[in-house]
Amino acid sequence: MLKTIGVLTSGGDAPGMNAAIRAVVRAGCELGMTVYGINRGYNGLMENDMYEMHLRTVSDIINRGGTILYSARSERFKTEEGMQAAIRVCRERGIEGLVVIGGDGSFRGARDLSLRGVPCVAIPGTIDNDIACCDRTIGYDTAMNTVVDMVDRIRDTTESHDRCAVVEVMGRGAGYLVLNSGIACGATSILIPEVPYDFERDVIERMKRTQRSNKVHFVIMVSEAIGGVAEMAKRIQKETGVESRATVLGHVQRGGSPTAADRILGSQMGYHAVQLLKEGIGNRVVATQKGDILDFDIFEALNMKKEIDLSLYTMSNEISI
Ligand code: ADP
Repeated sequence: MLKTIGVLTSGGDAPGMNAAIRAVVRAGCELGMTVYGINRGYNGLMENDMYEMHLRTVSDIINRGGTILYSARSERFKTEEGMQAAIRVCRERGIEGLVVIGGDGSFRGARDLSLRGVPCVAIPGTIDNDIACCDRTIGYDTAMNTVVDMVDRIRDTTESHDRCAVVEVMGRGAGYLVLNSGIACGATSILIPEVPYDFERDVIERMKRTQRSNKVHFVIMVSEAIGGVAEMAKRIQKETGVESRATVLGHVQRGGSPTAADRILGSQMGYHAVQLLKEGIGNRVVATQKGDILDFDIFEALNMKKEIDLSLYTMSNEISI
């Protein structure tokens, strides 16, 4: 059994990462392991910036957004020199395995380290929900609920003023967050990167059609990968006569207290990662599919393609009229 492990968070932060850290530390301690908390992702690993975590180090964090271990992106870690520096630190500290919580970029780092003899188990923590082997990533549910909460507020004022709100939603190249929160908000149009759009047909005509049934205020939700919400608002105002305002929700979507679903998922995934590492099993990604917690080879996971459920898109277009 492995005696000493490390845990780090890397890439974009996501609510629920703390629940995963807590589970790793508690499950590791319960097995008699030494667990190091590594600050600022791979940077902290290369720079030996870490501390031993105990049962009580992770008290009162399950309810907190962000990550108590901080997160970072590191160009140096992508180089062989950076990778070797990280391996040296692992040897010095006696770290025999790592839990890496992050997105697919962080998984590539975990794969490279596993290849060089430091077994890593990766946990998907990203609000983008863009990990192919996994139905839901840690942070996605919280972000979705935050978007719904924010857009509900915006809707109140569009309703008071007979306006159109054009709202940009995060998700990088993936449309899960904007599509699902858009359905929950009853958006008249949802523009996602996976489906090519025609602005006239998919926004202007849809608005005009709903105007004919006396709808006077509108919400249009747009993926950040498409962007351009300020220009869209101007064009909508010009072509429909509806006063329009653009909002970029931005980083409010990444913060906040995690939902129960994300706390549970983080706890399950952190626990599962330690059960793998205790056997010395590395190069795995923890995932959830249909409610089960599973794990996949990182190489295979990175090569999988995630399809968005287009029936949701079609449904939304048919009922948000
Ligand atoms: P995320 O994990 O949220 O997708 P990034 O793509 O920025 O975020 O990746 C986080 C970090 O993972 C990077 O800053 C880098 O240190 C490491 N990383 C990303 N890609 C690679 C790679 N191909 N090889 C090694 N490390 C990588």
